Amino acid sequence: MDTRRIHLSEKDIPQAWYNIQADLPSPCPPPLHPATKKPATPEDLAAIFPKALISQEMSTERWIPIPDEVRRIYSIWRPTPLVRARSLEKALKTPARIYFKDESVSPPGSHKPNTALAQAWYNKQEGITRLSTETGAGQWGASLAFACTLLDMECKVYMVKVSYQQKPYRRSMMHLWGATVLPSPTDQTNAGRSILQQDPDCLGSLGIAISEAVEEAATRPDTNYSLGSVLNHVLLHQTIIGLEAEKQIKEFGDFPDVVVACVGGGSNFGGIAFPFLRYKLTEGKDIRFIAAEPQACPTLSRGQYRYDYGDTTMLTPLLKMFTLGHTFMPAGIHAGGLRYHGMSPLISQAAALKLIEPKALYQTGCFEAAKLFAATEGIIPAPESSHAIKAACDEAIRCRDTGKEECILFNLSGHGICDLASYDRYLSGELEDFEYPKEKIEEAMKALPEI
Ligand SMILES: *Cc1c(COP(=O)(O)O)cnc(C)c1O
Repeated sequence: MDTRRIHLSEKDIPQAWYNIQADLPSPCPPPLHPATKKPATPEDLAAIFPKALISQEMSTERWIPIPDEVRRIYSIWRPTPLVRARSLEKALKTPARIYFKDESVSPPGSHKPNTALAQAWYNKQEGITRLSTETGAGQWGASLAFACTLLDMECKVYMVKVSYQQKPYRRSMMHLWGATVLPSPTDQTNAGRSILQQDPDCLGSLGIAISEAVEEAATRPDTNYSLGSVLNHVLLHQTIIGLEAEKQIKEFGDFPDVVVACVGGGSNFGGIAFPFLRYKLTEGKDIRFIAAEPQACPTLSRGQYRYDYGDTTMLTPLLKMFTLGHTFMPAGIHAGGLRYHGMSPLISQAAALKLIEPKALYQTGCFEAAKLFAATEGIIPAPESSHAIKAACDEAIRCRDTGKEECILFNLSGHGICDLASYDRYLSGELEDFEYPKEKIEEAMKALPEI
């Protein structure tokens, strides 16, 4: 029988994460303090992050050891399978070999617990007993709640009010894993109260929820803040995806010509891509990297590479990144995890150096690719992951048309079992495609600081 999947054993869980900062041709531009616009110091960050993570954020060591206890807990769901998508290949009549790394098998259903667990563990080592965070659709909140319950820590999640009302299932997951979940804006923080004073019916936004979670962490000594994407240490933890995939694809006797993942803040893309990008940087290997993003939020394709705030309310440090502007208001597309105005500074730098290629996709095409994937490989993907599937299928079709036998690897960042309402809308033909208007990008750029 032809091999369909490679399972590694628990002892094959990598011993160290890969830090791309060691191999990029120039250092990553530092975060700037929002008030002084000078590089943020470790002391600035220590109010809300533990020392170990601040040091990972700035480290240029190539390999950072994964603590034994973290590896032990990873074994609840890792190593994840690498699957040869033979049925999808057949349906596309492509000579290409398509592989996907299945991060949907984690208990919360996505790649996010790879960093949630690591972050919670380092916080606990430094005496922190509670973590606060924000969540939109609930993928990140559920992952942090899961990690906190495994480590016997408290977890407080500010969930954007409109999602709190419309996405009950991930809220239930967070409750089952023992987290406190509040619809943001709340009356428990200054940030929340001042918003409610202006607009008592405010449905919330990720920017407001970030402000509330950061305020709680900054004002309580037992509590730190945790972010699910964008930052260097988050991408570092996610490289476990690509490091496992590298072992697995070599066991298949193969190696990728093209690596594909979707990008929201960039963590699952960095996770699968960076361990392979190292071969391009250090050995000049010819590998293409495709970052799939929505046309409705085309951060890498049409944003600008400059310093911007991470949140709407301009409380976070300024990051040098591709951005559509912190005033960006995304259309209501169904890939909630891909609606962020900014992008990881490491991915932004790689894109500015033309090491990776952005590709902007319409959501109906992505749902169509997701339907084909579900019909062939059986797994119902997250709407975010469907962007990676669509981009991988486009590459496979290019191979069919040109007769090239390339090897395509993509990351399946999560499953879509909590997103079935979105699939219903797709199936009933109610989904619209959005293109982000050019004038709006120009307008938003005016609100950016001159640095
Ligand atoms: C959050 C999320 C994303 C987007 O986040 P990145 O940091 O860009 O990886 C993609 N897929 C799924 C399933 C998610 O939950």
